[in-house]
This record gives sequence, C-alpha cells and structure tokens, in this order.
Amino acid sequence: MSTPTLDDCAARDAADPLAHHRDAFVLPDGVIYLDGNSLGALPKTVDGRLQAAVTEDWGQGLVRSWNDAGWIDLPATLGAKIAPLIGAPAKEVMVADSTSVNLFKLLVAALRLRPDRRTILMEARDFPTDLYIAQGVAALMGDGYALRTVPTKDIAAAIDETVAVVALTHVNFKTGAVHDMAGLTACAHGAGALTIWDLCHTVGALPIDLAGAGADFALGCTYKYLNGGPGAPAFVYVPQRLQADFHQPLTGWMGHADPFSFVDDFTPADGIRRALSGTPTILSMIALDAALDVWADVDMPALRAKSMALSDLFIKLVEARCAGQGFALASPRDAARRGSQVSFRHPHGYAVIQALIARGVIGDFRAPDIARFGFTPLYTRYVDVWQAADVLFDIMETRAWDTPQFKTRAAVT
Ligand SMILES: *Cc1c(COP(=O)(O)O)cnc(C)c1O
Repeated sequence: MSTPTLDDCAARDAADPLAHHRDAFVLPDGVIYLDGNSLGALPKTVDGRLQAAVTEDWGQGLVRSWNDAGWIDLPATLGAKIAPLIGAPAKEVMVADSTSVNLFKLLVAALRLRPDRRTILMEARDFPTDLYIAQGVAALMGDGYALRTVPTKDIAAAIDETVAVVALTHVNFKTGAVHDMAGLTACAHGAGALTIWDLCHTVGALPIDLAGAGADFALGCTYKYLNGGPGAPAFVYVPQRLQADFHQPLTGWMGHADPFSFVDDFTPADGIRRALSGTPTILSMIALDAALDVWADVDMPALRAKSMALSDLFIKLVEARCAGQGFALASPRDAARRGSQVSFRHPHGYAVIQALIARGVIGDFRAPDIARFGFTPLYTRYVDVWQAADVLFDIMETRAWDTPQFKTRAAVT
C-alpha cells in the first residue's frame, strides 16, 4: 500500500465526525501539539470561567461563595461529570488531591480490606510515582508488607493468595500498552485479591467500563486527556459495594460525616465523600469544571476510532519515511492493544525530540530512549500527523538533531 499523502489526510479531516471539537481549544499558531497526554491543551471555556470565579465569586462573594457558588460541592460535582467517561455511577467518583495522594489512600484502604495478606502486586516499569507510593505504603505498614513488581507477561500468574491488591496502570505511560482490565480483575478476584486501576493515560482517550469490569478501585489525573490544566486535581473511584468498608488513612475534615460540627473525633462520611481529606483546590477545580464541558457531546467510540487511526497513520508514515534512521516501535503495533500514544525507541531520542520542538512539533522524551507522541483526537488532525512525520523526516535527513543545543537535558523532559 502506498504511503498516505497530505491530500489523503486533508480528505480524512474533512470526513472526520469529531473535527469540530478542535474549535473548542486554544492552540498556538505554528505548533503541532502531540503532548496532550502529558498536559492537555487549554479549552476556550476555561479563561472566562476562571476570571469570573476570581473577580466575582472570590473577589465579591468571599467566603459566602463556599455555599453560594457551590464550591463545597465541587469534588462531587466534578466526580459526577467524570463518572460517565469511566463507566461509573455519579455517586462513586470524587475529585480530590493528586493521583499520588489518592493512590496512597486507595492502597492503604485496600490492604485494610485484606488484613491476612501482605503483598501489593504491580507491574515493573510502571509510572514511577505509583511504584514509589507503593514502596512508601509498604514501609509505613511494616510487619511484612511488601511491594512485588513483575514483568507484564507474568502479572496474571503472580496473583496468588499472598496478594492483597493488584495495582495497575491501565495504559503504560512509556509504551502505551493497554491491559485487559476485565480479565485481570477477574483473575485477581479469583485469587481473593482486590484491584486498583490507574486511569491517568486512559481517561479521555479510551472508553472505560469500570462497573462492567468489576473493578474495585480506580483513580486518575485530569490534566492529560481531560485538559484540566497544570496540576489539576485527580479523581478517585470507589464503588458503592465497597464504600462502607472503605477506610482511607488521610482522615481529614472534608471526609468527616459532619465537617462543620467541629467535633474532636473522626467519623467517616457515608459514601464516597469519605475519600476526601482537606479543603478542595477551588480555582483548579473551576478550571477543570470548565474543561469537562467539552466532553458533554463527545462520542467515545468515535473518539477511540480516531485515536487508533491517528496513531496507526503516524506509525505508517514514520516507518515508511524514516526507515533506516534508528527508530524502533516501542508501542504495540495492534491499535486495539495500544492507548492514544505512539512511542519509538531511538538512541538519540532526547535530541530528536528537542529538534522537533524547535520546529514546532511538540512530543516528549521518556528516559532512557523513548520518543513519545500523544494523539488527542479532539484537537489533532490527520494533516497534523502528516506534518509531524514530515518534519521528523527532515530532521533525520539533515541531522538537525545532532547539535549540542539539543543534547542538554532540561529539568522537565
Ligand atoms: C501522570 C501520571 C501520574 C501523575 O501523578 P501526580 O500525582 O499527578 O503527579 C501518576 N501515575 C500515572 C500512571 C501517570 O501517568
């Protein structure tokens, strides 16, 4: 089959049922943004909503806005907006804190539900914060608690009667490989273990059915495909069947049954609200609230179909045009087993990404050798994919990456 041309891509954009969503985003001129899986683009709704929240609700309403502007309910309001994107009822999702903090809460709560078991099972090479938090939890619990990490292919076989909880990131941040959520959850349940699913690289990119998969707990961040903005708060999912026995360790006043009774002793709130700890980060939540409006009429199966088509196109173009340039596909070739990103290993991956960024094509680098490209179907066009591959081709042909300027690592890669 011949390599798709720029005209072919323009024709696909013209026929794309999601194309109009691009108008909902602020996208800088001269930039092809393939890093929405790290920090989503700015939805146009956010600026005005933040302005109003600052000047009116904060500036004029002051402390009254906790009631009058609905601030106190934002963790639940936002949870209810995210719920349909993850296959959960509204009463099972809260927005609070960060992914790292919520993982700490969920791990401890899960271990408490399986007091006769001592092992947290995770995938080797998962996102570092997930592994680090689990190490911290095991150290804090003491008494034989341990994190065990295994390679991807060994996960199912490693779930035995010592495992209390299997905590997995659904889509791997480096390779984009997708786990079989329903299958591994069933496997964990068969051995008496609980599951925690990290949806950071899934939510807003792949349709998810937590309830259908029988997942026990889940969490994820909102600044990647959900476009909530830098440092946007995370979400946490606890199904109703587990809520009464869910006892997370960060028992702050917002998770109390009656926060404004100001009593000395902690009594957890009924339901999912006990997942909260302290005061919600209102300005970040308002930005997220505005960003989530974009999702009201997004057809998730169409989104997934476009995500697979964009990433398939990129693989095809890079492999055709940059053959012999040292790129090795690090993502599954089968789109059904891949999230919304494509990763290539390259010995000079960092410099190549820097050279691309200098030309307006923004991807990112994940050590030691991964050049990573995210495809956000709401605002990425087929022509963008073509142009990105074209710039990459040029950079490789001219060795534009091979200069000291592109080899000095910045703090954030
Ligand atoms: C992005 C990401 C995180 C980020 O956690 P923070 O607490 O927001 O820093 C955690 N886990 C995974 C798998 C991620 O992809």
